[in-house]
Amino acid sequence: MDDCIFCQLIKEPHHINFLLEDEVGIAFNDINPQAPTHCLVIPKRHVASAKELGEKDVALLGHLMGLCQQVASLTGIHKEGYRYVMNTGENGGQTVNHLHFHVLGGRRMGWPPG
Ligand code: 5GP
Ligand code: ZN
Repeated sequence: MDDCIFCQLIKEPHHINFLLEDEVGIAFNDINPQAPTHCLVIPKRHVASAKELGEKDVALLGHLMGLCQQVASLTGIHKEGYRYVMNTGENGGQTVNHLHFHVLGGRRMGWPPG
């Protein structure tokens, strides 16, 4: 998608340091971190949000989850605990319309979320 900032990041990888990359997805640091560790895991294929996901995407989701797990290990947050977040749609607080998991850690998280 031409007007998608995450698709552009994938196309122009010199703009960003990827933490991880494979054939399906990439992980990189959030530009505006909300915790000591705040990474994003996204598919290379453009998917606008979780609203578009269905049975056909089970493998994609499993793969992205695997990348999240790798990010948690790589950054060390797996030791103390961490949080995966997928904001969806307006009420969910989604601001970038390209599917992404937030991987957050390095501090105690509050509940309920804001
Ligand atoms: P959302 O609000 O959609 O759940 O999350 C979008 C996230 O993308 C935000 O945490 C925001 O800081 C991050 N973000 C937006 N633009 C960029 C960018 O150009 N580079 C990086 N690394 N993160 C971005
Ligand atoms: Zn996109």
